[in-house]
Amino acid sequence: MINNKVSIKAPAKINLSLDALRKREDGFHEVAMVMTTVDLADRIELTLLEKDEIRIESSGGFVPLDERNLAYQAALLLKKTYGIKQGVFIHISKHIPVAAGLAGGSSDAAAALKGLNQLWNLGLSLDELAELGAKIGSDVSFCVYGGTALATGRGEKIHHISSPPPCWVLLAKPPIGVSTGEVYRNLNLSGIKHPDVEGMVKAIEDKDYDQICSLLGNVLETVTLKMYPEVKHIKEQMMKLGADAVLMSGSGPTVFGLFQHESRLQRVYNGLRGFCNEVYAVRLLGE
Ligand code: ATP
Repeated sequence: MINNKVSIKAPAKINLSLDALRKREDGFHEVAMVMTTVDLADRIELTLLEKDEIRIESSGGFVPLDERNLAYQAALLLKKTYGIKQGVFIHISKHIPVAAGLAGGSSDAAAALKGLNQLWNLGLSLDELAELGAKIGSDVSFCVYGGTALATGRGEKIHHISSPPPCWVLLAKPPIGVSTGEVYRNLNLSGIKHPDVEGMVKAIEDKDYDQICSLLGNVLETVTLKMYPEVKHIKEQMMKLGADAVLMSGSGPTVFGLFQHESRLQRVYNGLRGFCNEVYAVRLLGE
């Protein structure tokens, strides 16, 4: 029997280091980011349809259910590139907060590319899928591979690195959505402190947890923390309550804390839940 259905996990990512080097002629920033996956994931179920159409449905989360959805764009891109006349129904079980700096949409797109590669027997390699993914969004390439990587260019050039040492991650998202484009537009590169991205890569390769904690850095905090003081407040609270280290992920507003000890994670989780509705205790996937 021919398989007409597949279900794929789409994990969220966090940035352990995010630097913007300069603005390019195409309007994007040249970046250097260390990204790693965590075990908070959407689930994408793809079912082939006889009719030549792309239908999309999502449980939970406020996401567009038309061509603006990045998973829809992934299906359309494969159909156009490879002349596929078959349709697909995409069901997204949404668990990753939307517009949160966790690459939820990009990860859904990457999962759709991988699933449809199987269902339509395209035989594409991960590298080929990542290259296609870059046409949808800068973070899609990383999401095709997952694991841990240094991303350069506008974020689409992926250099795999080893996984960080295992630890807990607490994610806390204030009730606001942040537009990545707006944050980059407001970024002023003069006189800002750049994070040590190379040092972070080395700390990860060395599995040096303390050094990873001390080198966490994200230039986009200079914009988002000013625009949304609640993000700064969550950062301060998480640190005060006892996280080993704290940083905003991507363009925010999600803040993450790292923990080596589960007992401390629990204490900070309880403390944050008092004033923040969306708090998730997860683990680094890394691989
Ligand atoms: P990144 O960290 O890559 O900047 P993000 O976590 O900040 O991403 P997303 O959750 O990917 O942001 O959502 C950004 C925008 O993309 C939202 O405004 C949303 O409407 C749109 N979007 C399109 N498709 C999806 C999807 N499948 N899931 C979530 N958002 C989607």
